Amino acid sequence: MPTRAQRSRSFRRKRVTTPGGTVRVRYRKKQPGIARCAECKRPLHGVPRGLPSEIRKLRKSQRSPERPYGGNLCAPCTRAKVKLKNMERWKE
Ligand SMILES: [Zn+2]
Repeated sequence: MPTRAQRSRSFRRKRVTTPGGTVRVRYRKKQPGIARCAECKRPLHGVPRGLPSEIRKLRKSQRSPERPYGGNLCAPCTRAKVKLKNMERWKE
C-alpha cells in the first residue's frame, strides 16, 4: 500500500520489475506541460521541461532564451511585437 500522499492521482504509476522478479508499482510526480507561446500557443524552444525544483538547479541562461519576451513569446511573435512597438514609437 502506498503512503497516503502517493494515492493522489497527481502521481504517475510505473510498474517496475525488481531484481528478485516481483513487479512493484513505483510512484513519480507528473511532468509539467511544455512551455507555450502566449499568443500562438506553439511550443517554445529553449525552455526546459521539469519540476520547478529541477528548473531552479539550472543556470539562469539555461532556463529560457535571454532576449526580450524570452520564455513567453516564440520568435515570430516576438518579431511582430517588436516591430509593432517600433511603429508606435515612430507615430509620436
Ligand atoms: Zn507565438
